[in-house]
Amino acid sequence: MIRQIALSVLLLSAASAASAATVEPLPTLPSKPVQNASAIKLVEPHLHVTRSGKGAPRIALTFDACMGKTDPRILNTLLEQHIPATIFVTARWLKTNPETLAIFLAHPEQFELEDHGQNHIPAVDHPTLVYGIPAAGSPEAVAQEVKGGADAMVAHGIPQPHWFRGATAKYSLSSIAQIRAMGYRIAGYSVNGDAGASLIPKMVEKQYASAKDGDVIISHINQPTHASGEGVAASILALKAKGVQFVRLQDIAESGDDDTTQ
Ligand SMILES: [Zn+2]
Repeated sequence: MIRQIALSVLLLSAASAASAATVEPLPTLPSKPVQNASAIKLVEPHLHVTRSGKGAPRIALTFDACMGKTDPRILNTLLEQHIPATIFVTARWLKTNPETLAIFLAHPEQFELEDHGQNHIPAVDHPTLVYGIPAAGSPEAVAQEVKGGADAMVAHGIPQPHWFRGATAKYSLSSIAQIRAMGYRIAGYSVNGDAGASLIPKMVEKQYASAKDGDVIISHINQPTHASGEGVAASILALKAKGVQFVRLQDIAESGDDDTTQ
């Protein structure tokens, strides 16, 4: 009896694996998630910049502009303090933030703009959900997400990007290899500054205060109504007061996990 049950479970999983393998997802639309999505290994790579080694710690501030608007608390702090930063923009965000883009483009020595994708879809090449968001779901859709973001940037007068960070910052190892083959480095991070703009200011400040020499901090610059931005602005000032040397990704050597950079 037990053997029979075990056998039927085995047959059932073999059948579902076979059907998952034969389903051809549409190239540009998020595909229907499969039941065994949790079995697919996703990674969230770390990224560090080369340490200064002695004296002031070196830290890279990175901000995602996923969609929506611009947080003036963060933008104004960066501008007033002349702090360089790397901003990951989507095609969606570019459409609705021409004023902020003009500011970024007017300060090329301060702001490095990189690719956060076309539609803010996780760059995972299997059908699955990441934090409830349907992934791109196929290699074709991953390619479209990366290229669509870069094409929109160039169409908006931004230089061709060299870095990509996908929505949710999670990838399959095969999607990492694919994006690398497209000529991009993949931007992980080492300190999660705002947990998707969900943290209260005190928690954001705690995260930023934990940053050490060589860390790459991720936060969001597109959520002006969230309390997190207040903490991000205060934290940037606190790092500056500590004498931190701020760097952009294009200005410094780096090392990333999971073959994301080398
Ligand atoms: Zn994002």
